[in-house]
Amino acid sequence: MSFQYAPAPESTSIVNIKSSNGLFINGEFTPGHGTPFKTINPATEEVLAEIAQANQEDVDAAVRAARRAYDKSWSKMPGRDRGKYLFRIARLIQERAREFAVLETMDNGKPIRESRDVDVPIAAAHFFYHAGWADKLEFAGFGSNPQSLGVAAQIIPWNFPLLMLAWKIAPALATGNTVVLKPAETTPLTALLFAEICQQADLPPGVVNILTGDGETGRMLVEHPDVNKIAFTGSTAVGQAIQRQIAGSSKRLTLELGGKAANIVFDDAPIDQAVEGIVNGIYFNQGHVCCAGSRLLLQESIAEQTIESLKRRLQTLRLGDPLDKNTDIGAINSREQLNRIIDLTQSGEDEGAQRWSPDCVLPAKGFWFAPTVFTNVTQAHRIAREEIFGPVLSVLTFRTPDEAIEKANNTPYGLSAGIWTEKGSRILGMANKVRAGVVWANTFNRFDPASPFGGYKESGFGREGGIQGLGAYLTSEESS
Ligand code: NAP
Ligand code: MG
Repeated sequence: MSFQYAPAPESTSIVNIKSSNGLFINGEFTPGHGTPFKTINPATEEVLAEIAQANQEDVDAAVRAARRAYDKSWSKMPGRDRGKYLFRIARLIQERAREFAVLETMDNGKPIRESRDVDVPIAAAHFFYHAGWADKLEFAGFGSNPQSLGVAAQIIPWNFPLLMLAWKIAPALATGNTVVLKPAETTPLTALLFAEICQQADLPPGVVNILTGDGETGRMLVEHPDVNKIAFTGSTAVGQAIQRQIAGSSKRLTLELGGKAANIVFDDAPIDQAVEGIVNGIYFNQGHVCCAGSRLLLQESIAEQTIESLKRRLQTLRLGDPLDKNTDIGAINSREQLNRIIDLTQSGEDEGAQRWSPDCVLPAKGFWFAPTVFTNVTQAHRIAREEIFGPVLSVLTFRTPDEAIEKANNTPYGLSAGIWTEKGSRILGMANKVRAGVVWANTFNRFDPASPFGGYKESGFGREGGIQGLGAYLTSEESS
């Protein structure tokens, strides 16, 4: 077992959480017209704040504000001026990085090490990257005079609240669109802090509107007749419902949905490095990652040895207070998600897979799940087919590269994959045959604003990030 660490909690004194929060419409915070709800800290179950619920009236007001801002200022503003606002937002996120990180960790349950070192810096990087594009769109390959689409409705999940917001808002603004964004019910706080940043940056009112609320608010936003573009990240079930809802309309749509990624390790891979990649692939952010490497495919000859190393490594992970700077595994985001993980892991045992977790004491309060490995998994098992969205790894084996490809592609999803091998030619060969939007070689869960991200099949369509991501917010027609 690992040796003891003294507690190293990050102070929460930097955040100032209002007990009651409004909606952000037309540059101002205003009360919502629905029944407010509460957001909690999933590590302690403490109530953090009361949050406004946007109803139809509020959705109408937000879309109206976004339309007005689009017509009056934003779509007419030269790209170089839009870019200045994006640069300003990026710098303000950096300036208030610690505040964002602490707030994200409190509202979501993820370790402060991750919110501080991953979520917040990459969110700032997205604004920097897209700020650079704002005045160069005519050189991005969408014709000489690419046009913005109008009002974008953006709906995001709870696993990377600020980062998903940045992935959505930065490209929309850079390309001259205005937005109405709905954060997830369990994690609205960093989106509201971002609204303050919009005020601080003097962003023209209505360019960004933030509507807190539940799935019903999301549905109303999708159905609003004056919305031109919908960008959704979330579950496949809701993504499909949105597709049905807008069928026959001229609304543009991108969907970033679930995944069941294969992380494929060949016998010539450096095992210690691969084990780090496997751990990062599935235990990062408690496995609440759409592109998580949840199916480990090990070449048979190295399977036993790799599983042993992996188990040894997992015994050193520290689970507990997400605000502690030494914590590796934080809280599960909600009781609902915890129940889903418990249900799916139980099915793994019932169907005959072998379950293993390191010794670890789970805190008495809050929602927790120990990192878990399943061996003896077959492709028919639910834990090999369904997205668990938790710290649970299913291990399968293969003998030949062809068998690895067949197993990797045997899923309705196609978001990401990992390949571990010394051979460059094998990396390229495998990457061509694995049906996944993102393929990592000898690494996993790496994100860069310049690199497009998105899926195939039931993982959705459209790309976020890079030049491809800009295309989702532009039309190459000479006039729109
Ligand atoms: P979800 O239930 O689909 O929720 C996503 C968002 O949609 C939330 O803001 C949710 O509001 C809202 N929503 C719910 N019902 C809606 C409806 N009928 N119309 C419009 N909006 C609606 O997904 P989740 O459980 O929060 O997130 C987990 C899923 O997201 C996983 O499957 C994961 O793979 C996927 N995900 C994908 C990516 C990617 O980039 N591909 C990234 C992250 C997550 P409420 O919060 O109020 O329910
Ligand atoms: Mg919360």
